[in-house]
Amino acid sequence: MSELFNGAIKPKSIKTYAFWFLVGSQHLYGEDTLRQVDAHAKEMVDELNKSGLLPCAVVFKPVLTTPEAITRIMREASNAPECAGVITWMHTFSPSKMWIAGLSILNKPYCHLHTQFNRNIPDTEIDMDFMNLNQSAHGDREHGFIGARMRLPRKIIVGYWRDDPVVMQLASWMRSAAGAAFSRDLKVVRFGDNMRQVAVTEGDKVEAQIKLGWQVNTWPVGDLVGEMSRVTEADIDGQLGAYARRYSAPSFDLPEIRYQAKEEIAIRRILEAEGASAYSNTFEDLHGMEQLPGLASQDLMAQGYGYGGEGDWKTSAMVAVVKAMTEGMPGGTSFMEDYTYDLTPGRELSLGAHMLEVCPSLAADKPRIEVHALGIGSRKPPARLVFEGHPGSATAATLVDMGGRLRLIVAEVEAVKPIYQMPNLPVARVMWRSLPSFAEAAKCWILVGGAHHTVFSYDADVAMLEDWAEIMGVEFVRIGDGTSYESLKRELFAADLAWKLR
Ligand code: MN
Repeated sequence: MSELFNGAIKPKSIKTYAFWFLVGSQHLYGEDTLRQVDAHAKEMVDELNKSGLLPCAVVFKPVLTTPEAITRIMREASNAPECAGVITWMHTFSPSKMWIAGLSILNKPYCHLHTQFNRNIPDTEIDMDFMNLNQSAHGDREHGFIGARMRLPRKIIVGYWRDDPVVMQLASWMRSAAGAAFSRDLKVVRFGDNMRQVAVTEGDKVEAQIKLGWQVNTWPVGDLVGEMSRVTEADIDGQLGAYARRYSAPSFDLPEIRYQAKEEIAIRRILEAEGASAYSNTFEDLHGMEQLPGLASQDLMAQGYGYGGEGDWKTSAMVAVVKAMTEGMPGGTSFMEDYTYDLTPGRELSLGAHMLEVCPSLAADKPRIEVHALGIGSRKPPARLVFEGHPGSATAATLVDMGGRLRLIVAEVEAVKPIYQMPNLPVARVMWRSLPSFAEAAKCWILVGGAHHTVFSYDADVAMLEDWAEIMGVEFVRIGDGTSYESLKRELFAADLAWKLR
């Protein structure tokens, strides 16, 4: 089982996805012009790929000049498993009735890049030939109209294609689109049901599968216990070696740590066997287990697996999706819970943590393994990772089932170095300031029904999550800089009516 201890074992890397660059034109301009369009498009694709800013490859496709060619490429894009989206750009004018058949069958995310091959107008050299080749300014307006007329959800990026801010917007959208592809393949293993009487962790799993692709199913805790009984002492020694490379501990060879290692190996074997990238469990259903998985769940999250406590399969799946979207980014992403506040006027802070399960990808310094008693779950003291989250801008996202539709709520926060030492707090902790202010943010969060569980990410910003929500067709609410309770209330009233009409 040595491959189990290699670190990254995410079932599907973001690098496996690619985006097709579709450039429109028409036959009006002659073969010379079309050859130039092709050459320019190829140069753009090469430079975009060489920029080092994009998470996935952009794939050049020959210039499109007929309805038949456009329909054919859209059918191919829709059927190609590795194609996570298309990027369109009209170097010249491309009459958009030619695009109707193709766009109507496209089932992949769609980005309209409004740019121009040349940055500047060549003052002394400009003539009608130049004008006829470089007419994105009106070609992309014709293309934009058909997207609007067909009511197609699409990302619109505007700016010069060599400029980093433009390429970064494209990179962010590619991550959202790859997250959508990952979402459509996602399987979630539930060990037991969700916590008794809790409302927000409930939800319509059929609706979630229709909308988001998530296959959410239950496995008995007894199966997990059975898998644990097949873990050998040698397997556990190997897992302790992995812990020793990533974390610190006074001693790694403690029975509590060995037990967490056994749990981790068994959970991972079940996830691998099922092709699942996320799981949930609950302290209320640990029959046959001595410890609630703590270190085990934390280390699995660090490898890219989604996790949700108290049977929270929606947050678990969202953790997996956001981790997949943000692969290779430096900040970190975790399951999180709003735990307690520090209410000094004007400097209000939230302390985020969980009973045990916060991902060490958030850590400011090397996490340390500690063993402490746990007040709930009636089990033995579990080993867990203890650390502080690092400072930086972050988002806290929650997906709730509103009955008839899913709503993704994203709050903008500013994580700070925790202002207290908290030496007796035996769990990982993150401290943050909410935007626009503590009171406004919390009022809005409660108004829109945000859960106490979130996906906390330094890497996924509002734009990335909003684009993902638009691609998946779920409602999106942002709470952050500039948000006001009064205007959000009016926005929600209108949105509620609109969603009922859809
Ligand atoms: Mn919780």
